[in-house]
Formats: sequence, C-alpha cells, structure tokens
Amino acid sequence: MTFVRVSDISSLLFCQRYCYFNLLYGEVVPAEISVMRELYFSRRAGIENYAEWARKKFFTLYDESEEFVELFEKAEREFVYSEEVERLESLGTEIDLKREDVKLKGKLDELVRDSEKKKKPLVLGYKAPEEGVWYRDRIKLASFCVLLEKTFGCNEGYVYYCSGKLREVKISRKDKYTVLKAVERVNKLKKGFIPEKPEGRENRCKKCRYRNVCEEKSETFASKFL
Ligand code: SF4
Repeated sequence: MTFVRVSDISSLLFCQRYCYFNLLYGEVVPAEISVMRELYFSRRAGIENYAEWARKKFFTLYDESEEFVELFEKAEREFVYSEEVERLESLGTEIDLKREDVKLKGKLDELVRDSEKKKKPLVLGYKAPEEGVWYRDRIKLASFCVLLEKTFGCNEGYVYYCSGKLREVKISRKDKYTVLKAVERVNKLKKGFIPEKPEGRENRCKKCRYRNVCEEKSETFASKFL
C-alpha cells in the first residue's frame, strides 16, 4: 500500500469517482475554504492586519486573476472569527503528520490545548450544519486522531466552521475504522479501479470540475466486486 492523504479521504467521501479523477489529474483549485484557512491562520498568529497578510499569502500561491480576486473577497466577507476559539491555546498550525504503519499522512490545520491541558486536533470547515458536524468533517477529524494516537491518546477534537461556530467532537472506534477502510479504498483507486457512477447526485455533479471526463468514462469491470 502507498501513503494516502487525509484530503484523499475527504474527496472519497464526497464522491469515489471524484477521488479517482483527483488522484489522476491532481488539480489544485482554490475554493472559499482555502481563503478562509489563510484568514484563520493569520488571525490565530496574532498578526495585526491579518486580512492583508492572508491576502499576500493567498496571492503568492495563486495568480491575481479577476476570478481569484472575486473568490478572495467573497470568502473574506463571509469569514467570521469567533472569540470562542480563544479559549483554546494554539500549539501550532499547518502541522505535517505521517504514520507509516497505517499509510496515512496529512496536514493538520491546528493543534490546540484546552482548559484541562489536553491536546486536541482542530480542523477547519466552511459552513456549519444546524447541529454537530458534517460527516466528512467527523471522518477528517478521525483521520487526524489516527495520526496523533501514537503520540498521545486522541479520541476527540474540534471543527471550527468559518461561519463562526466551534464544535467539539468525540471520535469513536467506528470512525477510526472508517478511516482505515478509506485508506484501503483509495489504494484500490490508485491501482486503476474506476468506481461506478453514483445515482441521485445530480446537484453535486452539476458543480463538479470533473463532470466532462466523468461522463466519458465508464467504471472498470473489477470495481463492481470491490
Ligand atoms: S461528475 Fe458526479 S459522479 Fe462524476 S466525479 Fe463529479 S461528483 Fe462524482
């Protein structure tokens, strides 16, 4: 097996075929959350004019085209920094983690320490659901708990939604099992198994950047038995 990134698991949960095309073409296209990440990191670093600094960082990575300027400005308008997050001490942001035995790696948004001095992972999300967290965020957090559990027992963490909501999450054994199953599945996709097109995902497919190539490719015969 080869290393799987936490971001591959997130794209697998979005759509297995999307994950397959992403592994194949590996396009990095910024979205609102990419901007919000920069705003959050700059704010947490205590930079005075944090939005300006986030802008500089973002446009070092991406060209300052009309499309990306619009994206930045929209995300900046929507970004909400809640003082609630201040109760968590930041121990570092954008931390690279890797675990050889389970072939998993990823960049953790933030490692924090709570009021009881417990270290926990924190991941960033875009818009919060009414209650709790989206399933994909729960599994993303579970992936980082798997990555951290050899360093310290890790069964809980936070999702900070950039709409201004901090949510605490307990991670179960089942969540961690789902992460390891996803590592297996991504490895199969890397070997060239093209998954079947899922039914009833028209809304998701409409906005998908792989829509054209997806319509042209049928699933591989072997993928029916996975
Ligand atoms: S077009 Fe739909 S089925 Fe195809 S990769 Fe995108 S989301 Fe998945």
